[in-house]
Order: sequence, then structure tokens, then C-alpha cells
Amino acid sequence: MTEVATRTRDVLKLADEAAPLVDTFGRTISYLRLSVTDRCDLRCTYCMPERMTFLPKRDVLSLEELYALATGFIARGVTKIRITGGEPLVRRDIVDLFTALGRHLDGGGLQELTLTTNATQLAGHAVALYKAGVRRVNISLDTLDRAMFERLTRRDALPQVLQGIAAAKDAGLRVKLNAVALKGVNEDELPDLIAWAHEEGHDATLIEVMPLGDVEEERLDQYLPLNDVRARLEDRWTLTDNAHQSGGPARYVDVAETGGRLGFITPHTSNFCDGCNRLRVTATGQLYPCLGGGERVDLRSALRSDDPQGQLAAALDKTMLIKPERHHFRMDERGAAPHLPRHMSMTGG
Ligand code: SAM
Ligand code: SF4
Repeated sequence: MTEVATRTRDVLKLADEAAPLVDTFGRTISYLRLSVTDRCDLRCTYCMPERMTFLPKRDVLSLEELYALATGFIARGVTKIRITGGEPLVRRDIVDLFTALGRHLDGGGLQELTLTTNATQLAGHAVALYKAGVRRVNISLDTLDRAMFERLTRRDALPQVLQGIAAAKDAGLRVKLNAVALKGVNEDELPDLIAWAHEEGHDATLIEVMPLGDVEEERLDQYLPLNDVRARLEDRWTLTDNAHQSGGPARYVDVAETGGRLGFITPHTSNFCDGCNRLRVTATGQLYPCLGGGERVDLRSALRSDDPQGQLAAALDKTMLIKPERHHFRMDERGAAPHLPRHMSMTGG
């Protein structure tokens, strides 16, 4: 019997509705990123084109279905759920989903419920999110310069975003600011952005741009390798590796001069797939076991079948068999088609 077949048999032995999710490379899945909409009120140039085609609303799962899906994952050992999008806070009544899922915290199997947001609507939701059990939020912010923000997101929304960040802090939410490092765009501003985040008491994380979806701009022109950024930061600051784990792919350093923590998400310059504990589900219930792969399992039909629990368990078992070992993003060919046609706004981050 081949090694893969042996591993497959071992995984299948585990297949029941409460068995933990372990893939054929022995990685245990404990983290679900659940997209609740692909829609967004911004149009970040690295994420989507101005004229984006969104999914028909009828294809999107209801909040009840999203809740049922999430609880199915909790039953299989998922302890951390990140609600994402698109922009999750543009979905009507989304706080109801947080409130329902929050009941699984405190001994109900879920250890952390969190979200990734662009913060445009956060000021109006921060207190309710805290009440629902959210304690940490990831906020995407690539620049503190209003004109640059408008150029990057194609919307003049920086004041709202800053209000949202302040409201999160006031509500008691711990904030991590995520910035995509973009060549010739926010490249020179990154140290100031990090210093500001640390001054405000927030962690900061830098991300390498990934070739997902057609975005009008040339990907290679956007791409800034983070090992170059780190070298430049080290000319200015003392960075010391830190073993902190946030449950995601970031590797952290402490910045002695600011007293803050800085993460690097480096799909290109340093692969992080060995420890991958994540699955992603889109707002239409498509499960992607790898952000950088085309493998997909349809959970919506499982959910809408006569035996949702059994079908969902079977779909998750199948996913464990097809989760690839690693992604194979390439960022070295000018004019190349996107590595994958789907945009990051489908699967969230
Ligand atoms: N709208 C929310 C936000 O922006 O925080 C959540 C969804 S957004 C798709 C999640 C994260 O993905 C953001 O931090 C964003 O900067 C990042 N992102 C989007 N497109 C990306 C790309 N092509 N490469 C790398 N990161 C990307
Ligand atoms: Fe919207 Fe987030 Fe994509 Fe920006 S990165 S367009 S905020 S989904």
C-alpha cells in the first residue's frame, strides 16, 4: 500500500460526526474562517476591481445556515472562528450571528470568536461585538494618509476607519492592524504606520500581496517581498523574534524601540503551510481547504440535503483527504493570469 493510501485509510478510520479533523499530512484543523458576504464598501486595488461582480444574493447562505455550518465545525473540534468577507459588517443583522456563536464560548467548544474588518462600520458595532463575546479584531489599514487611502481603496473613508479603530479600543477589543505591503505605494510609510499602531497599543502585521483574482493592476508591480521590508526596518529598529502564535500564519518579532509586536505573513518569501490548521468557507458554503489552491467541497448542498448532519460530516471527511500540503503561489511572471481566478474577498483573510 502506498504511503498516501495508508494515510487516507487512517483518516477514514476517524470518519464520524464528532471525530477531529485531521488531514493526510497529520495537521489538525482547529480554525475556521467563515466568509459571510463577498460584498464590500471599499474597492482595495490589490483585492478587487472597481467594477466587481458580486455573487447573486440568492446563492448566499442565510444567517441560520451560516450558524448551522459553524456549529458543525465546532462539533468536529474547531475552536476558533474568524468571521470575514468581503466586509462582514456590511451584512445586515450580522451581529445576530456573532451573538448566536458567542454562546459556544465559555465551555461550549469554541475558544475564540473574532473577525477581520475594514472598520468602516466598526464604530456602530464595536460594543455589540464585545457583548457577543468577541475580544480581538483584525483591522485592515494600509495607510494613514487620507489621499493615499482613497487611492488604495478607491473610497474616501479614512476618517470613518479611524473612528472605528478608536471605538474598538474603547469597547475593550484588542486590535491587530493588518497592512498589505505594496511596492511604491505604502512602502515608505510602513515604519510610521507600525509606530502609530504600537503607540495606540495595537499589534501590527504586514502581508505579502497574493495573486488572487483579476484586479486591473499588474500584480508584480504591487509585490513587495517582506524580507526586504524587514531588512529596512532593522536599519531603524531592533527586531527580536518572538514565539507568539496567534493561531494564523504570522511570525512575530518584538520591536524594542516601540515596545510593540510586529507580524509578518509571507506566503512568498517564507512558506508557512507546515503548521496550517485552517479551513475557509465562502458565503455560498464552498469550502476551500487551501487559500492558494482550487480544491473545493460544496457544503451548501450538504446543508440543504435530507441528512445535513451526516452529509456535512462526510463533506468534511472528504476535505481532509484533499487538503493540499502547501500552496504554490507564483509571483515572478509579468502579465501572468492570476494564480487563481477567485478574489480574496470570496474567502476572506
Ligand atoms: N474586508 C475585510 C478587510 O479588509 O479586513 C475582510 C476581508 S479582506 C479580503 C481580508 C484581508 O485580506 C485584508 O487584510 C486584506 O488586506 C487582505 N487582502 C485582500 N486581497 C489580498 C491579496 N490579493 N493579497 C494579500 N492580502 C489581501
Ligand atoms: Fe473590501 Fe477587505 Fe477587499 Fe478591501 S480588502 S476591498 S476592504 S474585502
